Amino acid sequence: MTDLLTHEEYRAIAQSLDLPQNAWIDGAYRPAILGKTFETVNPATGVVLGTIAACGPADVDFAVAKAREAFEDGRWSKLHPGARKDVLVELSRLMLRNARELAVMESLDAGKTIYDCETVDIPEAAHVIKWHGELIDKIYDQVSPASNGHIAMVVREAVGVVGLVLPWNFPLLMLAWKIGPALASGCSVVVKPAAETTLTALLLAELAAEAGLPRGVLNIVTGSGADVGEPLGRHKDVDMVSFTGSTVTGRRFLHYSADSNLKEVVLELGGKNPCIVLDDAEDLDAVASHVVNGAFWNMGQNCSAASRLIVQAGIKDRLIAKVKEHAREWIVGDPLNPEVRIGALISKAHFAKVSSYLKASKSDRILMGGKIVGEGFIEPTIVEVSDRNSSLVREEIFGPVLTVVPVASFEEAIAVANDTEYGLAASIFTANGKRALRGARMLRAGTVTVNSFGEGDITTPFGGYKQSGFGGRDNSIHAHDQYTQLKTIWLDLTDTADTAIG
Ligand code: NAP
Ligand code: MG
Repeated sequence: MTDLLTHEEYRAIAQSLDLPQNAWIDGAYRPAILGKTFETVNPATGVVLGTIAACGPADVDFAVAKAREAFEDGRWSKLHPGARKDVLVELSRLMLRNARELAVMESLDAGKTIYDCETVDIPEAAHVIKWHGELIDKIYDQVSPASNGHIAMVVREAVGVVGLVLPWNFPLLMLAWKIGPALASGCSVVVKPAAETTLTALLLAELAAEAGLPRGVLNIVTGSGADVGEPLGRHKDVDMVSFTGSTVTGRRFLHYSADSNLKEVVLELGGKNPCIVLDDAEDLDAVASHVVNGAFWNMGQNCSAASRLIVQAGIKDRLIAKVKEHAREWIVGDPLNPEVRIGALISKAHFAKVSSYLKASKSDRILMGGKIVGEGFIEPTIVEVSDRNSSLVREEIFGPVLTVVPVASFEEAIAVANDTEYGLAASIFTANGKRALRGARMLRAGTVTVNSFGEGDITTPFGGYKQSGFGGRDNSIHAHDQYTQLKTIWLDLTDTADTAIG
C-alpha cells in the first residue's frame, strides 16, 4: 500500500513538476509541424498548467510513417517475445520509480483525487504493463486436427500499426490497458490522448524510451479529436484502432473505417449500469459501501459506474439511509488533499452538462446532495426518480449522481436493469445464491458482479454488450486478440516418393 504524503507536501511537488509540452514521435519530443499549441488546464483551479503541441493531420502522417517503418523493419515486432517482456517489465519498474510524479501530474491535469491516483491509477497502470509483458513469452499457437497428411498451424501475428484513442477519465490507466497488450504483441502504436489529459502519456513515453523501447514504436500525438483523432481514424496505413470514449465518437470511428481502409475497430463505450439490491441482501453496511463506491468513485466519471440503484421496495429506506451515511464520508475538495474522495469534474463544459441534469426534473426527489460545491465540484447526489424514462435514468451522466428506481420483485428488477441501450456492467446483491446466478445470466452486460461492485482485474476481460461497444475486450489474455490476427499455415507432409504416410 502506498504511503500518502500530506496536502502541503503534494502541493510542493505540484509546484516543482516539470511538465511536458510537446508531442512524442519517433523517440523524441517534437512541437506540432504547424507550430500550434493549446492550453491544458487544472480543472480544480482553472489555472493553466502549460501549453501542449496542437498536432494535426501532418503530424499524424509523420507518426504513422515512423510507426510503420518501425513495424516493418522488425526492431520491435520481430524481437524475441522474451526481449519485449524485459523492456515492458523495466517500463513498469520505471513507472513505479516515478509513481509520485505521475500521480501528482495526473491529479493536476484531470482533477482526480491524489488518493485515487496514488492508490489505484498509477500502481495499477504499472501492474498492467508488467502483466502483459510477462504474459507474452508464455502464449502458444495451435496446430489444427485437420488431417494426417498435413499440419495446419494456426498462428497469431501482430496486427501492425495501431491507433489508440483515449478518454480523459483514467488517462494513464486506459493508456496502459491498450499499450500493454499492443506493445507486448509486437505492434507499433500511435496514441491520441484526450486533449484534456495528455501529460502522463508523454512522461510514460519518455520512460518507455529509457526502458529500451526502440524509437517509432510508441508515438503520442497530442491535440483534439477533430485534428488528430479523425485523421488517425481515417488513415489508410493504420491497421486497427482501439477506442475508449463516448458512444457518439465510437460510431464515428466505424464511419472513418468504412470510408478509408476498413481498418479493424474495437470500441469500449459508455454505460448506464444497474445495481440491483434485493430484499434479502445481507449486511447492508457492506452493500451501501459498494453502492457508494460504484456510484461516486472518480466523481462518477466512470464508464462502469453503477449509476442506477434498482432496489426492492421492502429494503429501500433502510438501504438509502446507509448509503447516505457512507456517502457523507466522501469529502469534496482540493484533489491534492489526500483526505478528499471527490475532486473536480474534468472541465467547465462537463460540469455544466452534469449540473443541467440536476436542474432538469421537478418531479424527482433529491434524497441527498444536489448542490454545486464551487465551480467544477458537485457533491455526491442521490435522486429517486418518478419517471423510468427520464433522462436521469436513460442517459449516462458521467458525474456523481445516483438515480434510485424502486421495484417490487426480482423479475421486475432484471427487466428494469436490462431496459437500457447500454450493457457494460451490472451488479446484483442477494443472499439467495440461485437467484444471484440466475440474475447474473439474465443481465445483459459484459461484467456482472454478485454481492460486490468491482472494476474487475487485469486477469478478466472488460467490455460491453449492446451499445457499450464491441470488437474485442480490454484486459486479460483476450486483450491480445485485439492486436493480433490469425494466420493459417498449411504444411504438406506427403512424401512424393512414397505417398503412404501415417
Ligand atoms: P469522447 O468525447 O468520445 O472522447 C474520447 C476520445 O475521442 C478523445 O481522445 C477525444 O478527443 C476523441 N474524439 C472526440 N471527438 C472525436 C472525433 N470527432 N473524431 C475522432 N476522435 C474524437 O469521450 P470522453 O468525453 O473523452 O470520455 C467519456 C466517455 O468515455 C464516456 O461516455 C464514458 O462512458 C466513455 N468511457 C468508456 C470506457 C470503456 O471502457 N467502455 C472507459 C472510459 C470512458 P478530444 O477530447 O481530445 O477532442
Ligand atoms: Mg487538464
